[in-house]
Amino acid sequence: EAAAKAAAATLDEGAPTIFDKIIAKEIPSSIVYEDEKVLAFRDISPQAPVHVVIIPKIRDGLTELGKAEARHGEILGQLLYAAKIVAEKEGVVDGFRVVINSGPTACQSVYHLHLHVLGGRQMKWPPG
Ligand code: ADP
Repeated sequence: EAAAKAAAATLDEGAPTIFDKIIAKEIPSSIVYEDEKVLAFRDISPQAPVHVVIIPKIRDGLTELGKAEARHGEILGQLLYAAKIVAEKEGVVDGFRVVINSGPTACQSVYHLHLHVLGGRQMKWPPG
């Protein structure tokens, strides 16, 4: 456990975020899905009846999608597949949206890459 945390800290770049505390279960979250690599929990400020955030448990420099490198391909795929599992679990697999805000212009506020899974209402296009 401690060794895993130390390894994660070595790999990560950038300041710790609130999501590290959620991963460490130092602050509570409503977990929807979890496996070895990813954690999915309800957004504290939901923008739809279903609003789940999915994060990699090890950030590995992936503060934002715009910083992704080829080595992140596998975890990016796992996160996207987890979005489908979450949509199924939440009963919205027939219609849901996945959003990644990357960088300040896109209103990203937490610099630990995450997917938003939104559903349970009619979505609009274009998004704001
Ligand atoms: P934005 O804040 O503009 O939505 P992000 O894409 O960075 O930008 O999203 C971060 C998300 O994390 C927000 O939707 C926010 O409500 C959510 N969030 C922040 N803190 C917590 C928390 N403690 N538990 C659950 N969700 C959280």
